[in-house]
Amino acid sequence: MLTERLFTRSARPSRSRADASPSRWHHGPWWSNSYLLTPLLSILVFLVVMSLILWSLNRREQQQQEDTLYRNVAWAQQQIRLSMTGAQEQLQALSRDLAAGHADPHSFLVSTTDIMQGHPEILYLNWYTNEDVARWPNNPLPMLGQRLARPNDAQMDEAVKAAFNQAKSTRRQVYSPLIYDDLGNGYLTLQTPVYRDREFLGTVAAVFSIEGILKHDIPPELSAKYKISITDANNRELATTSTRPRLPRDVFYDLPLDPPGQGVTVRVYSFPQITNFTNNTLVWLVAGLSCFVLWSLWSLWKHTRQRFEAQQALYAEAFFRRAMENSVLIGMRVLDMHGRITHVNPAFCRMTGWDESDLVGKTAPFPYWPRDSYPEMQRQLDMTLRGKAPSSGFELRVRRKDGSLFHARLYVSPLIDSSGRQTGWMSSMTDITEPKRAREELAAAHERFTTVLESLDAAVSVLAADEAELLFANRYYRHLFGIRPDGHLELSGGSFDTAQASSDSIDMVDAYAGLPAAALTESTADAREVYIHGIQKWFEVRRQYIQWVDGHLAQMQIATDITSRKQAQELARQQEEKLQFTSRLMTMGEMASSLAHELNQPLAAINNYCSGTVALVKSGRTNSDNLLPVLEKTAQQAVRAGMIIKRIREFVKRSEPKRQATRVADIVADAVGLAEIEARKRKIRIVTEMRSRLPVIYVDPVLIEQVLVNLLKNAAEAMHEARPNAVDPVIRVVVKLDAGFVCISVIDQGPGVDEATTERLFEPFYSTKSDGMGMGLNICRSIIESHRGRLWVVNNVEADGHITGATFHCSLPIGEPHDLSNGGSEAPRTQTVTGEL
Ligand code: ADP
Repeated sequence: MLTERLFTRSARPSRSRADASPSRWHHGPWWSNSYLLTPLLSILVFLVVMSLILWSLNRREQQQQEDTLYRNVAWAQQQIRLSMTGAQEQLQALSRDLAAGHADPHSFLVSTTDIMQGHPEILYLNWYTNEDVARWPNNPLPMLGQRLARPNDAQMDEAVKAAFNQAKSTRRQVYSPLIYDDLGNGYLTLQTPVYRDREFLGTVAAVFSIEGILKHDIPPELSAKYKISITDANNRELATTSTRPRLPRDVFYDLPLDPPGQGVTVRVYSFPQITNFTNNTLVWLVAGLSCFVLWSLWSLWKHTRQRFEAQQALYAEAFFRRAMENSVLIGMRVLDMHGRITHVNPAFCRMTGWDESDLVGKTAPFPYWPRDSYPEMQRQLDMTLRGKAPSSGFELRVRRKDGSLFHARLYVSPLIDSSGRQTGWMSSMTDITEPKRAREELAAAHERFTTVLESLDAAVSVLAADEAELLFANRYYRHLFGIRPDGHLELSGGSFDTAQASSDSIDMVDAYAGLPAAALTESTADAREVYIHGIQKWFEVRRQYIQWVDGHLAQMQIATDITSRKQAQELARQQEEKLQFTSRLMTMGEMASSLAHELNQPLAAINNYCSGTVALVKSGRTNSDNLLPVLEKTAQQAVRAGMIIKRIREFVKRSEPKRQATRVADIVADAVGLAEIEARKRKIRIVTEMRSRLPVIYVDPVLIEQVLVNLLKNAAEAMHEARPNAVDPVIRVVVKLDAGFVCISVIDQGPGVDEATTERLFEPFYSTKSDGMGMGLNICRSIIESHRGRLWVVNNVEADGHITGATFHCSLPIGEPHDLSNGGSEAPRTQTVTGEL
């Protein structure tokens, strides 16, 4: 209930609720005890008052008891006194009768009997004329029943005599002191003087028994209620109505008896147990009631304590829930069954900018509905109230108080109270502007990405690694191969490269499209050139292993169509070949006159030898001895001419470039052989320096020879031009091995090269010669570089800085051609797929 109240109070501004600090509710334990303090105090007061009342009651009762006691004692005293006084008066009257002289023994006996009958306490009565002389000694004394044992005579005599004398002298009635018998009973004697005028006629002595007084003078109703005793002056009990021993708490009251005086006192005891009965009942009643109240208080305290704990738990729960509700970022709204807002949480207010007071109690159209979408919002509300809200929620636009709009998603669920009854609809709202924007951006990015992928002139495909299933194929791929994975497999060579799969970093995967971000921009895998016969196209294929969106390993492949590039490359290659060939022809053309001259020499020699031989044959002096040397020399010259022609023919032979294992020495010798013809014309010597054992290199010998011939020819021209009249000009050809390379250096004694134009020499059409084409060195460099070698020039500088010529260095790698192809920046690997599509 409390929780309900706490939550349903939400109609108030949220701030005030938030300010209701929980500490207000967290009282210390004394708070619970203060409930008990009042009853405890009242109980104490009650106890005190009851004690006071009891005490005063007790006190009053005691007072009453004392009063009653006093009254009763007084009553008892009065009775005894009355009886004694009566007896005294009767005795006085008797004494007067005796004095008047009317008495005779008989009438005396009658009178005394009469008196003793009226006063049974009188044990003995007689007329004594003198101290111990009776008037009528023979007159029988009245005896009424069993009166008493005789008192101690001597004591009696003494006391009686003293009283006798006193009565005689004073002419008044006198009581003797107390006399005791052997059993301790007390007695008194009353001496009544008898005077006839001035004549003393003796006394009437009456012995009173104290016990008799008690027995006969105390009314029975008094003796039944109280213990009544008569004591002497020494506080000795002379007679008592009850033999009950005296208890210390017994209350008593004393009153002196006069007559007879002589220290005789009547004492009345009260019986306390009878009088305390009411009080005791009351005490027990009060005690019982107090116990009951204390017990009730204790159970109340226990109950309060439990309630307090339950309340604390409830408060904690309520505050926890409120704190939770206040801190959640999801807006919550409660509608009753009629579509009225009954509650909104702070997050809802924060989101919409409307205060609680703006929203709670409102019915549709709600303030946060955008004006232009009332029908749509109304439709959603109707669906909600009919319980037809989709479980995926509504997507809606919400108008803030400042008029701005945002996108939200609203989920609706029925609100069930503690009794299981539906009381309304609970809606939770989340601001999806940002996620929506992100989603839209993502969708746009995806679209852009897909557009780019789709419009790429490269076939992009992704194949599942474990089964031949095409996971993705762009438009170009589909155009070439359809949606079958065969194209992918053909491009990849038909199988997965597990080594590559494990080496590829699958961390690079962009989960968005399942494609590595860098895949399209940079080459992370080796590119391979693949020719597909079925469609007669060349592709440059790059592939990468990636983690597909479902987490499985997949192979992504990007095949770029390079058919036209390939064709251009082929064309360029062919042109290059043609150029090289043309260049060789030109070299030969340039050397034509020298070659003709060179050929002319053996031919002339052959002619001479033949002429000589003819003359010899004609003279008939022929024999084998003189003919043989001539013929051998002729043959030698013919071989020499043949060699020249062979070299020229070899040099200008048009053939496909073909690498083969070639000895360096052969190439150098052939080149030098050709170049020498030209050099010799200019009187320049060519000196070759090389090690006896040189490795075999895998090159096209014609092309390398072309390079060397060109370098030697250039050197000879430069030397001749610079110093035509030099003495014994020499071109040195030095062949060395240097770190896996064969290095051939052509060292001339020309002018050297200008530092500034060193690199320009290798550019096409750069020439300083009037008839030069300027293509020689350019072709040489491309030949050397196609063999993975280097061609460069340095000046020969002496110690004093004098330039003595130029050296063209040409380095070629040693090793098998396939070894050479593994590194460097040569053309990519190629693969030809012969399979039909
Ligand atoms: P061409 O010989 O037709 O001029 P090249 O490409 O062979 O074409 O040579 C280009 C230029 O390089 C030459 O014109 C020349 O100036 C320079 N050159 C070539 N070799 C040497 C050399 N050994 N010494 C000096 N300069 C040279």
